[in-house]
Amino acid sequence: MEQIKNYIRGKWVDAKSGETFQSINPANKDEVIGIVSKSGRKDVDEAVKAAREAYEGWRLTPAPRRGEILFRAAEILLKNKDALGKLETREMGKVLPEGLGDVQEAIDMGYYLAGEGRRLSGETVPSELPSKDTKSIRVPIGVFGLITPWNFPIAIPAWKIFPALVCGNTVVFKPSSDTSVCAAKFVEVLVEAGLSKGVLNLVHGSGGEVGEYLVSHPEVNAISFTGSFDTGKHLEAICGAIHRIIVTEMGGKNAIIVMDDANLDLAVEGAIWGGFGTTGQRCTAASRVVVHQKVYPAFIDRFRAAASRLRLGDGLQKETDVGPVINESQFNKILNYIEIGKKEGATLLLGGKAYREGNCSKGYFIEPTIFGEVTPDMRIAQEEIFGPVVSVIRAKSFEDAIRTVNGTSYGLSSSIYTQDVNKSAVAERDLETGIVYINASTIGAEIQLPFGGIKQSGYGRKEAGGRGGALDTYSRWKVIYRDFSGKLQKAQIDK
Ligand code: NAP
Repeated sequence: MEQIKNYIRGKWVDAKSGETFQSINPANKDEVIGIVSKSGRKDVDEAVKAAREAYEGWRLTPAPRRGEILFRAAEILLKNKDALGKLETREMGKVLPEGLGDVQEAIDMGYYLAGEGRRLSGETVPSELPSKDTKSIRVPIGVFGLITPWNFPIAIPAWKIFPALVCGNTVVFKPSSDTSVCAAKFVEVLVEAGLSKGVLNLVHGSGGEVGEYLVSHPEVNAISFTGSFDTGKHLEAICGAIHRIIVTEMGGKNAIIVMDDANLDLAVEGAIWGGFGTTGQRCTAASRVVVHQKVYPAFIDRFRAAASRLRLGDGLQKETDVGPVINESQFNKILNYIEIGKKEGATLLLGGKAYREGNCSKGYFIEPTIFGEVTPDMRIAQEEIFGPVVSVIRAKSFEDAIRTVNGTSYGLSSSIYTQDVNKSAVAERDLETGIVYINASTIGAEIQLPFGGIKQSGYGRKEAGGRGGALDTYSRWKVIYRDFSGKLQKAQIDK
C-alpha cells in the first residue's frame, strides 16, 4: 500500500498529527489506492515558510533555466504516461483513454510553458522624451497557494503549477483529497526534473481545514482555485476581505444547440461524449442539449439509442465507455437530482438509477440518464449536477435556443450544430460563455489557447496559453522608466 506524504522543503514528510486518510478506487470501494497524510494548520505553516524562503532564489533564477525544468518534467511525464494514466483511472475512475489524455495535456502544457521561459515577453514603447526609455516587464507575484479538484487530477495541477513556476513564483499545492495519489506522483515528476527545495510544496488534507487556512495564510500572496462555485465564492470573499489576489475557475451548465439543419449524426455523437464522457464530470460537460423543435423527435430517438449502448464498468477494461462517479457524496447528489427532475415533471427517457450489475456493485456507478421535455427554468436545467445526466430542451427557434443557453448563472462552454454559416456567426457572437464550439461538443480544450468562463464559472480567461491566459494570472506587470539625460526633473517636465 502506497503511503502518500506531504512534500515540504524538499522532503517527503508525514503530517505533524500523524493522522492519515484513505484514497480509494471509485470503481471498487474495497481497493485502497493510497494512505494519505492528513495535514493540519502546522503543516501548512511549514509549507508556506518553505515556499517563502525559497522565493528569493527562485525569483532570481533566469526564466530560461526555470523553463528547462518544465521541459524535463514533460519528458518524464511522457516516459511515465502509461502508468500515470492507469493510476488516474484507478483513483478517479475515468476510462483509460481519458486518463492518458489527461496526462497528455500536462505533457503539452509542460513543453508549451517551458518555451515561455525564453519568451515571458513584455513591451518596450518609445518615450515622450529623447533620453528616456520605457518598458513593461513580467515579474512573479510571490508565494502562490494552488487548490485543485479531482476531475483532471494531473492536467489541472499542471495548468497551475507549470505557469506559476515559470513565472518565478513558489508554490504550496493543496490537491483534492479524492486524488491525492495522482497529485503526489505529479510532484514526484517535478522533483525528478530538478526543482530545488522549497520551490514546490505539497500539503494533503481537507479543503475546509487545510485549503481554507492556506487561502487566508498571511505569508501567501495569491491563490488560484479550481472547483465548485460555492467553494470558490466563499474563498473569493475571504480574499476580498484581506486584499489578496485570487483567481477562480468554477462550475458550468454547458449546452449544445442542435439546429434544424444540423448533421444529426455529428450532433448525437457530440451530445454523447459531451454529456457522458468522464461520466459527465467535466466542468465543460454538455449537461443541456437545446434542440430545434423540427428535429426534436429525431434527435431524441437517436440520442437515446446511442446512450443506451454505452457500457458501464471499470475504466481499465477496454470495453468500458463510462466509469463510476467519484465518491459517495457525488453519487447521492446525482441520484437526488434525478429525483428532482422527475418531481419537476421532466420525462425520464433513459437511466435514472444506480447501476449495480456484476462488479459494478462495488463502485459508484449511475446509469447514463436522459431527461426530455425539460423546461429552461427547471432546477435540472439550471444547476450543475456533475454526473451522467443530460437535460434535453425543446427550442422554438434559433433565437429561443440562444436565449435558453444564456439563461443560466454559469458561462463556461457552449456549442452549436448547424450548416448555416450565418447562424454559426451569430452564435459565436451572442453565446455568453468563455468558450464556444461550432459543430463540435462543449469539451476538449487546447492548451495553447486561454481557458476560462464568465458569470459564475469564473473571472474570464486565466488558465492555459495564448494572450490573456496563464501568464497574466501568474505574473504581474512592472513598468520601468529610465532617464539617461542627466538633466534635472524640471527641465524634463518642460519637455
Ligand atoms: P470542490 O468541492 O469545490 O473542491 C475543490 C478543491 O477545493 C478541493 O481541493 C477541495 O478539497 C478544496 N476545498 C473544499 N472546500 C474548501 C474550502 N472551504 N477552502 C479551501 N479549499 C476547499 O470541487 P470538486 O468537487 O473537487 O470539483 C468539482 C467542481 O470543480 C465542479 O463544480 C466543476 O465544474 C469544477 N471544475 C471547474 C473547472 C474549470 O476550469 N472551470 C475545471 C474542473 C472542475 P477537498 O477535496 O479536500 O474537499
